Amino acid sequence: MASAYGWTLRRYHHVSGDVQDHLVPEGDLREHDGPGCWCDPVLDPGDVNPHLWAHNSIDRREVYEVNPRMRS
Ligand SMILES: [Zn+2]
Repeated sequence: MASAYGWTLRRYHHVSGDVQDHLVPEGDLREHDGPGCWCDPVLDPGDVNPHLWAHNSIDRREVYEVNPRMRS
């Protein structure tokens, strides 16, 4: 089940004191930033983490992963 590509959870502390967790693609063609990233991350609040921002990879790897949230 191992994949050459994975996702990394990064935590950013906003100046306001808020904490944002960003799920960013590893080894993407372009390095991802935190809040304000070029890929226009979307807030994807889950049951466990209400502050999770999901980034969009250039290679669209997320399309091939099982993600019930995308089936709306
Ligand atoms: Zn990004």
